[in-house]
Amino acid sequence: MSKPVVIPPLTQKGHAAHCNRCLAGLPASLLDLDGSRMAISFYCLGTLDITGLVDQKITDTDRESWKEWIWDQQAGGVYGSGFRPGPFMTTTENQPSQHLATYSNDYSTPHIIMTYCALLSLAILRDDFTKLDRKGLLQFLRSCQGADGSFSTIPGAGDGDLRMTYCAFAISALLNDWSGIDAPRAFAYLRRCRTYEGGYGQSPTCEAIGGPTYCALASVYLAPPHLAMPLTPAERKQTTRWLLQTQNETGGLSGRTGKLADACYCFWCSASLDILGDRALLNTPAMAAFLASCQFNFGGIAKAPGTTPDPYHTYLSLAAVAIAPPETEDGSWRLQPLNTLINATTDTVKWAKEHIPARAY
Ligand SMILES: [Zn+2]
Repeated sequence: MSKPVVIPPLTQKGHAAHCNRCLAGLPASLLDLDGSRMAISFYCLGTLDITGLVDQKITDTDRESWKEWIWDQQAGGVYGSGFRPGPFMTTTENQPSQHLATYSNDYSTPHIIMTYCALLSLAILRDDFTKLDRKGLLQFLRSCQGADGSFSTIPGAGDGDLRMTYCAFAISALLNDWSGIDAPRAFAYLRRCRTYEGGYGQSPTCEAIGGPTYCALASVYLAPPHLAMPLTPAERKQTTRWLLQTQNETGGLSGRTGKLADACYCFWCSASLDILGDRALLNTPAMAAFLASCQFNFGGIAKAPGTTPDPYHTYLSLAAVAIAPPETEDGSWRLQPLNTLINATTDTVKWAKEHIPARAY
């Protein structure tokens, strides 16, 4: 008999406060993340969304100025339109006008991961998406796809891996338009990333890791029926088996076979199991107890106990909990329900799917 797991409270307000502070400006310990400001904004806003505190914590003035800042990162040019990580590589001549800056060099082009983050951040802020250059976005997706079927971060970068494949699929699902990607070629690449263990590596011949495995499975299940390339029953079984062994004696999940547990992999691996319909096979109270031990006293969740918290691990830990919250007497682990495939709350994804697709073009 294993002893019952005691789960301390989930200090949701403290985590929301940590992310609210990071929205105002990154602490010195996280300054190296400034180049991915759009992604950090998404994790911070996502934390407020998943704890149900958006309306309480964000003033109307902040909501408008943050929307404005995100739209200022939308840029169009020869490769189409998308969003940049932030203004840090932008010269004055590339400053936006009417929310569609033109880029003239390879340092200020849109970035596919940041574009996914920008769309979801705007949906959390309940933007109406009238400023979105949808045609340009489809052209941008086409420009990012390489001959091997992979997608690069920016057109022609040649740095393709499954993270960008996922972003291309998620953006297509949000647009409800799959004309920006060559799905058969994308799936051919995705299948080459599958490993003998049943997980997926970041790119072909790489070791199986939780993050790329989520990206692969979510892409497979996001594709509409006429483009879908589902896993075989044997493949599903093998993937579930690999994912289950990532939960170790700490209760946490690791990203790779035999590695230490890490809060973010509690999301990547448990979300993968959820997509496969096998989430119930994990020990939920044990995972929650591990995440509780990663909570920082002054708010925020770290990758492991005793390390520094950051918005990325905070948001992903909460997202992992939201998929299957443990039942506790104090109710502190209850969060807003999550759309596992898009990785945002179901209300935000509903808003995005109502406002992002083109009405006519
Ligand atoms: Zn991590």
